[in-house]
Amino acid sequence: MKLTFCGAAGQVTGSSFLFETGSTRFLVDCGLFQGSRTTRAQNYAAFAFNPKQLDFVILTHAHLDHSGLLPRLCAYGFSGPIYTTPATRDLLGVLLPDSAYLQEVEAERAARHGREFTAVYSLQDAHAALKLVRAVPYDVPFEPAPRMRVLLRDAGHILGSAIAEISIEEAHRTRKIVASGDLGQPGRPILRDPTPVTEADVLLLESTYGNRDHKPLDRTLDELVTALQRGFDRGVVLVPAFAVGRTQEFLYYLNQLTREGRLGELNVFLDSPMASEVMRITARHFELFDEEARRAAQLHASGRSAVRLSVTESVRDSMALNRLQSSAIIVAGSGMCDGGRIRHHLRHHLSNPRTTVIIIGYQAAGTLGRRLVDRAATVRIMGEDVPVRAEIVTLGGFSAHADQSALVAWARNFARPPANVYLVHGEPGSAAALGERLAKDLGWRTHLPGQGESVEI
Ligand SMILES: [Zn+2]
Repeated sequence: MKLTFCGAAGQVTGSSFLFETGSTRFLVDCGLFQGSRTTRAQNYAAFAFNPKQLDFVILTHAHLDHSGLLPRLCAYGFSGPIYTTPATRDLLGVLLPDSAYLQEVEAERAARHGREFTAVYSLQDAHAALKLVRAVPYDVPFEPAPRMRVLLRDAGHILGSAIAEISIEEAHRTRKIVASGDLGQPGRPILRDPTPVTEADVLLLESTYGNRDHKPLDRTLDELVTALQRGFDRGVVLVPAFAVGRTQEFLYYLNQLTREGRLGELNVFLDSPMASEVMRITARHFELFDEEARRAAQLHASGRSAVRLSVTESVRDSMALNRLQSSAIIVAGSGMCDGGRIRHHLRHHLSNPRTTVIIIGYQAAGTLGRRLVDRAATVRIMGEDVPVRAEIVTLGGFSAHADQSALVAWARNFARPPANVYLVHGEPGSAAALGERLAKDLGWRTHLPGQGESVEI
């Protein structure tokens, strides 16, 4: 069997892995490349295979760096099923059309300014991809091809996120491939912990935070309280957040801190056209939550929530937020500041030294969010150079990804070392550091694949 790393090899975006047996050809994930111009250029490259000859896709979760090239796959002739969880199917219904729409807007803007920009795909392609989705609940085996059995396990990363366990019978022996997808940090509210897996011959393991541990949650919450108190006294607080991901968790913490009396009354503006839709989807999949989250949701429903949350949907409401002077938190997407309404808010507020920007999620190399974390003096937003005078606070402890210790702990569940372990979805330093820890603690031999590399497994 041949495995080709079509993306997320030596980088965090563009997750896509091609498996070819004698009779079947399938992908695990088909993600968008996000970040610098050179990274994004890969979205336009020809697929390493003929999409018409692809039998099916298994999708681990809805984040665009895993799902965002599915419409392009369809535009190039793919017409097989896309297997994923019911919650991921629902989230894709919002995310893929939005991704196409943002590209069309970008193309129009570029045309107005005489720049060259081609949308990676159209709204029509996004809807074509959605038609191919087949939802399979967690832990229910299915057979996408003869002699092949797949199970999706809860990965605890975002709503609907899955680890894929794939058993393939070839030449009278069965081999098990496990693709971790993105793994969540255990012990967090709302989502469950990543499901332990005990057996694999081939393991594809994410390594986003392979080189470090998150600060303990208590310390992160202390830092959040300090940053918010300071920020409120001075001006507006901006929080770039993924519409799908830790936004709900962040709101949950704000609520908890207010109830504990550590924060005063809060005005939170959730400025994301997707946010209310995602909240509705989240409510539909209540069965996936853990106990704590159900309790919090009940409080919210009973009107005893301490946070005053306003959801702005129209552009006019969003613009009106520009008039806010202080004591308000604006939470807006996109999470890495490379699109969405957060860019308008940043353009308006970054040059003001009274503004605080709180970064709560992973910022890929080359994104505007990463430049803020790296303390750039000036950034370019919508064709305008904006000096960064705002205070930038980075809080790593809210990450949706397992940290180094959590990844090693998850790997420890395997009864014996998988014969082939590939560290993917990490910048080279992170993947290498995780490889060293796995060698030292568990005696594992790991491989860091290169972009486009093929291996026999
Ligand atoms: Zn993800």
